[in-house]
Amino acid sequence: MSHSPAARPEVPAARYRDRLERVAGLIEERGFEALLVGVGPDLEYLTGYRALQLERLTLLVVGRDVDPFIVVPRLERSAAEAGLRVPVAIRTWEETDDPYALALAGVRESADGEAQVAVSDRLWAAHLLAFQAHLAEDERFDAFAFGLASSLLGELRAVKDPDEIALLRLAAHAADRVVAAIAGGRLVGRTESDVAREVRERLLAEGHDEASFAIVASGPNSASPHHDASDRVIQAGEPIVLDIGGTLDGYGSDITRTLWVTGGDAAKEPDERYRHLFGVLQGAQEAATAAVKPGLAAEAVDAVARDRIAAEGYGEQFIHRTGHGIGLEAHEDPYLVAGNAEPLIVGNAFSVEPGIYIEGRYGARIEDIVVCGAHGPDVLNEASRELHVVPG
Ligand code: ZN
Ligand code: ZN
Ligand code: ZN
Repeated sequence: MSHSPAARPEVPAARYRDRLERVAGLIEERGFEALLVGVGPDLEYLTGYRALQLERLTLLVVGRDVDPFIVVPRLERSAAEAGLRVPVAIRTWEETDDPYALALAGVRESADGEAQVAVSDRLWAAHLLAFQAHLAEDERFDAFAFGLASSLLGELRAVKDPDEIALLRLAAHAADRVVAAIAGGRLVGRTESDVAREVRERLLAEGHDEASFAIVASGPNSASPHHDASDRVIQAGEPIVLDIGGTLDGYGSDITRTLWVTGGDAAKEPDERYRHLFGVLQGAQEAATAAVKPGLAAEAVDAVARDRIAAEGYGEQFIHRTGHGIGLEAHEDPYLVAGNAEPLIVGNAFSVEPGIYIEGRYGARIEDIVVCGAHGPDVLNEASRELHVVPG
């Protein structure tokens, strides 16, 4: 594992400034007085600050007629200074201060006395209820209402800029190399959890800052899409669904490849039934990916994969949506699912991951991260999508 990570692109400060300006414009346009952003992906998107999630309030305030500022506990000040990638005023609070009042000072009085306040979707209920109590007592307002930050930030975050795509691509390539290493290593006789531990170590060695998940689903477990790696011992003559990912400078990787381990025994190669199932799946994943283009409804990509799989009689065995958006969160907009008629936009990044699961027997899944380009799909993962028949 001596791979030296490629030079890492960085989201420049100008990009964060631009995001803050755009969201300030949306606040005005949609009639909000302010946006309150707690710790989480929205805060990271707007400032680069990956703060600790704590009971003490850390919160970015983007209001009207006031420059954005961040409220942080005094003991977190230097962490905030180091973590913020854009100059934002820091207002600290002492242990006995009221951080909620400090934050609400950034919410200006509205003309009609009604405060519309947007809050980040991941803001803890404990903080939201404290804001609610403060707003109820605030004499500046006759009334107030909360809205979700995703109604402002969702559309911005779903369209990745070139720096974000570069990071997603680096993360994807790192995950590709981990798949290759696992597929080329020893598997038979080891437990799923042992292999999962190796996956996590390799993701970190390949430059990930976090190894978030490592699904190693062998034999009958491969029929469970979100199987948690267990103490089951991998045997020759069965498939393994390997679905792994983490984050690289905050941006997610998420790849699934299906292996078949033979233990070096020609008699333990996949049978015709499994090869047929896998061929159908591979055709569906390829067709759905090829369909990606700007303007196409997100649900149409799902339909391409689903129709192909259903036509071969596996419709009931494809038990989840075709994909999810990915970025600072492992699952975010846009979702490739029936009912989502939103058109794809250049810069959308999402998984294309159909699967077929025969309960109690076995399953298979293939997953790539795909960016919607101006003329079609830009597939970030490069690992072969064939069934990996390996000695294991
Ligand atoms: Zn999943
Ligand atoms: Zn996955
Ligand atoms: Zn996924």
